[in-house]
Amino acid sequence: MVIPTLLIHGGAGTIRRPVVGDEGSLGPYEAALERVLRRADQAMRQGASALDLACQAVEDLENEPPFNAGIGAVLTARGEHELDAAVACGATRRAGALAGLRHTLHPARAARCLLEAVDAPVLLIGGEADAFAARAGVPQVANEVFGTEWRRRQWAAWRREPQAWAWLDHHDTPAAPLDDTTKMGTVGAVALDAQGRLAAATSTGGMTGKWPGRVGDSPLLGAGTWADERVAVSCTGQGEAFIRACAAHSVAARMRWAGASVQDAAQAVIHEDVERLGASGGLIALDAQGRWAMPFNSEGMYRGVVRLGESPHVRVFRD
Ligand code: ASP
Repeated sequence: MVIPTLLIHGGAGTIRRPVVGDEGSLGPYEAALERVLRRADQAMRQGASALDLACQAVEDLENEPPFNAGIGAVLTARGEHELDAAVACGATRRAGALAGLRHTLHPARAARCLLEAVDAPVLLIGGEADAFAARAGVPQVANEVFGTEWRRRQWAAWRREPQAWAWLDHHDTPAAPLDDTTKMGTVGAVALDAQGRLAAATSTGGMTGKWPGRVGDSPLLGAGTWADERVAVSCTGQGEAFIRACAAHSVAARMRWAGASVQDAAQAVIHEDVERLGASGGLIALDAQGRWAMPFNSEGMYRGVVRLGESPHVRVFRD
């Protein structure tokens, strides 16, 4: 009998360590992660499926403004929001993904609706993705609703100095002034239920100053999100590298074809495959026996875990 388990992340990146006297700068992030895990614990007690656990956790994180998904999403170069999300069920191998959403309040919920729709595609983009979500009953809002004051300030900083935000050039030498603004905040969850079923969900606003129309790894099955009968994976980081590394599926492939453990597979994907492409980020991965890994090569990654009947754990840095 496996123990129902949920892992969540709230993005990886250059996260400023609080210094003495700088009380609680991580407080809102940690408190939000813990709230989400506590709610999941309740759902586990009621026998929620892996898909329900992963989708609900991601929707809860979308509703938490500090994270870069749903409310609190980052802004494109044009100063607008374009949201991406994917949901995958390991047991049925069904999946739903939406990219370039501009009005859908709950992107992961909409992706779940696509997963469940009969004879539907796996991935929809742009206006048609919003239109599908609206037809499925997911609330539609004005694009500005996703904005927060903090994200607008972050965007203004990007406009003043776009070259400092060229992630692929700066990943290994984060400049001091960027410390507080380069936090990523994509959210994701992977879950295992008592029946041994796995599921994964990821939701994001993408990267600050991204090209309008740019799609990252999060909604791409095998890149930022994956679930099969062996493992469920959700990634965060510089999406272009995660796409080129086919990161999420590479964890599954290393386990399936090389017999790697979830820990070895996940570590290798981040510290070999993604790092070789000069990028930073992390992932959460959970196998069908309830073993997990949460590697990252950035300074920190907002993350947490809860197992049925145990207290939730939340971490940000390596320690
Ligand atoms: N991976 C996301 C993207 O590239 C960003 C992130 O994880 O922060 O769209």
